[in-house]
Amino acid sequence: MPAPDHSSTSSSADTSSAASTPLPPGMVLGPDGKPCRTCTDIKSWRKIGKAAKGAKKEESTAKTASGSDSGSTATTAAAGVAGAAAAAAAASASTPAAFDYEKECPADKEILGRATWTFLHTMVAYYPDRPSIQEQSTMKSLLGSFSQFYPCGPCAEHLREEMKIDPPKVASRKELSYWMCGMHNKVNEILGKEIFDCDKVDERWRDGPADGRCD
Ligand SMILES: Cc1cc2nc3c(=O)[nH]c(=O)nc-3n(C[C@H](O)[C@H](O)[C@H](O)COP(=O)(O)OP(=O)(O)OC[C@H]3O[C@@H](n4cnc5c(N)ncnc54)[C@H](O)[C@@H]3O)c2cc1C
Repeated sequence: MPAPDHSSTSSSADTSSAASTPLPPGMVLGPDGKPCRTCTDIKSWRKIGKAAKGAKKEESTAKTASGSDSGSTATTAAAGVAGAAAAAAAASASTPAAFDYEKECPADKEILGRATWTFLHTMVAYYPDRPSIQEQSTMKSLLGSFSQFYPCGPCAEHLREEMKIDPPKVASRKELSYWMCGMHNKVNEILGKEIFDCDKVDERWRDGPADGRCD
């Protein structure tokens, strides 16, 4: 499976003007041509913000010096970067000591990913052992829709490609749990994360460990 390149590129849905603009390392643009927070990890997001803030400051200094307003023709991407800069700068300027990013801020790629996998594995853990034809069809369409709307564009595109090669196995809870585990492992492999033992999906997502520490 080809590794999706999320950094330093525009996503497939990028506008052409944005695509021709060199992007800072780690930045991915969304369909609106603006930096995509849910396609970027927070460290990169903040670095982009700081870099763009510096660029914006230089631009305004240059404008003041020349009295010109030629900078107003900046591309959508550049405008988006400046927006991200302002947001990141505001966040870092007003960050209190006990600030908890995960609880207070919009999701980045990592937070979104963890929350989504929790939802997907848990949903599948409670799927019927013997689903009706209607339930199988609903699950297929749910996963198909999910892969259209998952708000990390490159992740979603990659998932759709994988689902074409290996469509969801909806005939039983066990099959679907293994299938979902396999999908997650494909992403883990690309990201260099540990491969999960799919025999342990029920323990992880439904029953908890035998020693009762989660009870
Ligand atoms: C559909 C989808 C596609 C994604 N695609 C990308 C991508 O292309 N690029 C990118 O950078 N990020 C992608 N992500 C995000 C990425 O998978 C992680 O969620 C994110 O990097 C945070 O990782 P994490 O180490 O916290 O644990 P996560 O990978 O989020 O896992 C959460 C927990 O699930 C359990 N787990 C791990 N593997 C499995 C498994 N195979 N089966 C069952 N349980 C498991 C573990 O207990 C783990 O702690 C995607 C997320 C989703 C939901």
